[in-house]
Amino acid sequence: MTDSWVNETLYAAWGQRFRVRRELARVRSEFQDIMIFESETHGRVMLLDGVVQITEGDEFVYQEMLTHVPLLAHGAARRVLIIGAGDGGVLRRVLQHRGVERAVMVEIDGEVIRLCREYMPGIGGEAWTDPRAEVIVGDGIDYVRKAPAGSFDVVIVDSTDPIGVGEVLFTDEFYANCARLLTGRGLIVNQCGVPFMQAEELAETSLRRGKAFPDISAYVAAVPTYVGGFMTLGWSAKDATLRAVPVEEIRARAQAAGILGTTQYWTPEIHVGAFNLPPYIARHLPQG
Ligand code: SAM
Repeated sequence: MTDSWVNETLYAAWGQRFRVRRELARVRSEFQDIMIFESETHGRVMLLDGVVQITEGDEFVYQEMLTHVPLLAHGAARRVLIIGAGDGGVLRRVLQHRGVERAVMVEIDGEVIRLCREYMPGIGGEAWTDPRAEVIVGDGIDYVRKAPAGSFDVVIVDSTDPIGVGEVLFTDEFYANCARLLTGRGLIVNQCGVPFMQAEELAETSLRRGKAFPDISAYVAAVPTYVGGFMTLGWSAKDATLRAVPVEEIRARAQAAGILGTTQYWTPEIHVGAFNLPPYIARHLPQG
């Protein structure tokens, strides 16, 4: 932090910076440096190890796309596993879906949960105390090792990048266990970075996901504070028809689930269109 500015330290030679109105928390947890501050432009912002994870201003883009796309593509998801996502935003969106009976969230860093609940309470909202939610502080790799076969319909991985504690969530072992714990129509989505700057992240995870799932793809979302153009969300499914559900069917499912009209980024058209990848991104997928 210099003067009243915070510089993101994701890339060595390029980055974004925020003007800080007020610093709220700066904690070294067992796993990472956590910083939360009030910005002039984006509401409250959380950085982990100097990298922007979430801002109150634009969190809706990422969270809606990471949640509503897999749940509505599945169409009948009742049991959802969330890995990471300690801010609570994915949990809140998952529990918006009327058909969801159980959402298990496994976040390794209890301090992220504690600080987000204290300083960014609107992100998780009432999801933290919803009786359908089970919040576990633990390592996602351990949880998926032990989870019974066929115990979830959808897995959502909202992780940090594949360095440090997040690295295990990008391994062959992790994806193989996700394939095992998912039902026959199950699918997993995971954040795969911004390919203009982090192309190897998408290329590498796509190859690994392809060892465990027959249908590998990715879809895009334009998240203002994940700088560098489109962010990609990895898509790994057992059933290839799930990413080809017609737009009118997606709309009908969203209506029934209680999602239609509640979003700021996701729409049925965005949902379907997001799988159309620009060639500079598609070439990092196995079939690209
Ligand atoms: N949306 C952000 C992004 O894409 O930059 C990431 C959100 S952040 C809340 C991701 C969370 O994943 C962090 O809180 C981190 O502690 C958690 N995490 C990292 N490795 C993990 C692991 N092995 N098991 C469970 N959670 C993990």
